Amino acid sequence: MRYVSTRGDGEPLSFQQVVLAGLARDGGLYLPETIPSVTDKISEWRKLRYQDLAVEVMSLFADDIPIDELRKIVEKSYAVFRDEAVAPLRQVGPLFIMELFHGPTLAFKDVAMQFLGNLFEYVLAENHAEMNIVAATSGDTGSAAINGMRGRKGIRTFVMFPFGRVSPVQERQMTTVLDDNVFTLSVHGTFDDCQNIVKTLFNDLPFRDACKLGAVNSINWARIVAQVVYYFYAALQLQNLGYDQTDITVPTGNFGNIFAGYLAKKMGAPIRHLVLATNENDILYRYFQTGIYSTGTVMPTISPSMDIQVASNFERYLYYLADEDGATVKRWMESFRETGKLQPDRSPDPLFRTGRADTQQTLDTIRDFWKEYHYLLDPHTAVGVSVSLRTKEEGAPILALATAHPAKFGSAIQRATGEDLAHHPILDALMELPTRVREMPSDARTVGEYIQSIVK
Ligand SMILES: *Cc1c(COP(=O)(O)O)cnc(C)c1O
Repeated sequence: MRYVSTRGDGEPLSFQQVVLAGLARDGGLYLPETIPSVTDKISEWRKLRYQDLAVEVMSLFADDIPIDELRKIVEKSYAVFRDEAVAPLRQVGPLFIMELFHGPTLAFKDVAMQFLGNLFEYVLAENHAEMNIVAATSGDTGSAAINGMRGRKGIRTFVMFPFGRVSPVQERQMTTVLDDNVFTLSVHGTFDDCQNIVKTLFNDLPFRDACKLGAVNSINWARIVAQVVYYFYAALQLQNLGYDQTDITVPTGNFGNIFAGYLAKKMGAPIRHLVLATNENDILYRYFQTGIYSTGTVMPTISPSMDIQVASNFERYLYYLADEDGATVKRWMESFRETGKLQPDRSPDPLFRTGRADTQQTLDTIRDFWKEYHYLLDPHTAVGVSVSLRTKEEGAPILALATAHPAKFGSAIQRATGEDLAHHPILDALMELPTRVREMPSDARTVGEYIQSIVK
């Protein structure tokens, strides 16, 4: 399998090459030259456990990794999940819920980040290389990345978060990891400042090469591949229950999760509609309603991992909307950069349904599900569930992806239910553990010098 950039320039690369590269040199994102069709494999795949299905799906994309090695990587990645099914399916009231939060940091990002950590370790060893990951986080990504990369040979991880601006639990999830290869930096600035430092360091090409910088953000192709698996797992389990097709609702921020669903559908997964759910930061909702993609200002909500105005993986969708023509995507992205607005001359893909839940609707949904079904939804999942209940159409069941454990967002649960209900022993235990963190000024040069001093 070879990979091309969404903007059409450059030579095609192998899977291992795109995993290490992250972003393409022309600024585009990588996609496979052709999408494999698996319709003839569906009936066999229905019987597989999560890990075996993962090897089947991933080996189609990671064809330059020997299958036995891939199997080892997959088994190791999902052995750390706390539920034997990895992604257990529940029936809760009128819908199905697939819980993706049983990994080490209790958010769905572990599904991809655990795989990515083991994959990096393998690929770096094969290439006798090492990598220094630099990332900025407003919460979930940082702890998932740290947990995915901790203790791995050939990898150091530098994660920046804005001082005093992540939740106490999220901060502890990062600062209590004491492995030698993990460096957690508390930057005196905002999340945007952290992200700008990352950009500045990556744009300094001599520095980037000298320090062998690597990235783990949601545009990394391997993260998408890992996420495709649970769309098949979900739809096939529902087939086992007698439903030919299913609708799947996805609480969306950067369009990474739902893009994996789009790919699964293109490969032949029995999915009818993908339902894109947003909070008040609704650029994607507005696009799928009106065909116009235009930015607003970010508004902080109780589902912070979806507080995003520009969705980095949306470009991958645009590539297919443009009939795989990189020149068109390039033109669209340039005009979007200049004007903050994009209106492609073709309608949104009808595979997608969309809905939006504001803070009150989200809180109401958390309260109702607790009262009626004794099931606690985290606020991100609740956005998806709220939208699911309002968009449900005849003819197929609806399955909502649960993207975080409620205990990660205990104050929202308390606000919704009036009770302090959401706990998890892992998170409660964090309060007792020693921490390590380094404060930094909001200055790319100081951060760069620090990284250099460690890397040398
Ligand atoms: C990251 C995240 C999302 C959004 O996922 P995208 O891939 O960015 O669309 C939703 N919920 C939770 C809990 C997250 O951590």
